[in-house]
Amino acid sequence: MIQIDKNDIAKRFMRYVQIDTQSDPRSGTHPSTKKQKDLSKILVDELKQMEITDAEMDVYGYVYATIPSNTEKNVPAICFCSHVDTAPDCSGANVKPILHENYDGEDIFLPEDKTQVLSPVVYPYLKTQIGGDIITASGKTLLGADDKSGVAAIMEAADYLMKHPEIKHGKIKILFTPDEEIGEGTAKLDMQKLGAQFGYTLDGGEAGSLEDETFSADGARIIINGVISHPGYAKNKLVNALKVGAEILHCLPTNEWAPEATEKKEGFVHPVRFEGIAERATLEFILRDFNDDKLKQHGERLKKIAEDVVNHYKGASVEFSIYEQYRNMKKILDKNPQVVVYAAEAINRAGLEVTTESIRGGTDGSRLSYMGLPCPNIFTGMHGIHSKLEWIGVNDMAKSAETIVHLCMIWEEKS
Ligand SMILES: [Zn+2]
Repeated sequence: MIQIDKNDIAKRFMRYVQIDTQSDPRSGTHPSTKKQKDLSKILVDELKQMEITDAEMDVYGYVYATIPSNTEKNVPAICFCSHVDTAPDCSGANVKPILHENYDGEDIFLPEDKTQVLSPVVYPYLKTQIGGDIITASGKTLLGADDKSGVAAIMEAADYLMKHPEIKHGKIKILFTPDEEIGEGTAKLDMQKLGAQFGYTLDGGEAGSLEDETFSADGARIIINGVISHPGYAKNKLVNALKVGAEILHCLPTNEWAPEATEKKEGFVHPVRFEGIAERATLEFILRDFNDDKLKQHGERLKKIAEDVVNHYKGASVEFSIYEQYRNMKKILDKNPQVVVYAAEAINRAGLEVTTESIRGGTDGSRLSYMGLPCPNIFTGMHGIHSKLEWIGVNDMAKSAETIVHLCMIWEEKS
């Protein structure tokens, strides 16, 4: 019987969310914001207090730590990972977490902005938390459950393992990354130093959810070279690159192939930036699909649309390029099925039903899987992420920590 102290994990979580760790996509540095290290430093200190002696933060803000094996068996080294940064979409400064004890199932009005109402009508999942404790922000900021709930779950599980040496496990690696929210969570990660064979990110939603599939993702760039001429004497000569770019955008379907028109397993193409001058314009796109062949077809279809438009304009030309962003982790996980199977068993042992899900996005786990660390994503209980209505149930977060402890035991048992 694994008994995670709910008070303890709630306090731990509330301590972490009060530290501003917002990342910044425009900074160009690693970490993108220095303040992320404020939390990482605290985590190292707390790990050391647990007598995890090798805990350290590197210059880029990554935290590495090892719980040594306490078994004679040869168990693969397992990594648990979560990100310390919060999303740039919503303020993460002066977060004031509020613990709502013994939730009664009614609307929760956030005190600093009464228009922010957490309602079971919008979040039906709230009903599963009746009688339990919920943590929200105060109305002016996000909460930061994404992903400080994952950080808290890993820290709580580490503390539990250190206090219960009778629980047998192999080598456990702890990893906290900066800059996940800006797609750079693994940019400066040292895989050698990490030294793990399999991993789990703690960065998922509802209790019991296990995500083993993400999008495959490419970026595409279309550069249009127009034909420039003095506008007073431009008749039959000038081709305005901005107008050609707008025409390409106009040719994109609106009832399919777009994020606003797709769901579940459907992929899409999505323009994210359009800039330039009359002479030359650049369009940036993101391309997403669960299937790599289909992803490739999306790129070809986009290229054809661009060329067809530009070919109508004498003297204009188009440059088309595609670059890889990340790939669906499922391809890697299918080759290492035990990683997902053990996670499902751990969730069951924590008394929960497993829901396997596909993420219409990417995680650190997608990149880690292709960097040699097969890495599905496990729930932490977070909801309403990247918004002022972000919230988490304390019971769910404790179950997440419990799942980690079970996973450590299962890897030892099966080895
Ligand atoms: Zn996250």
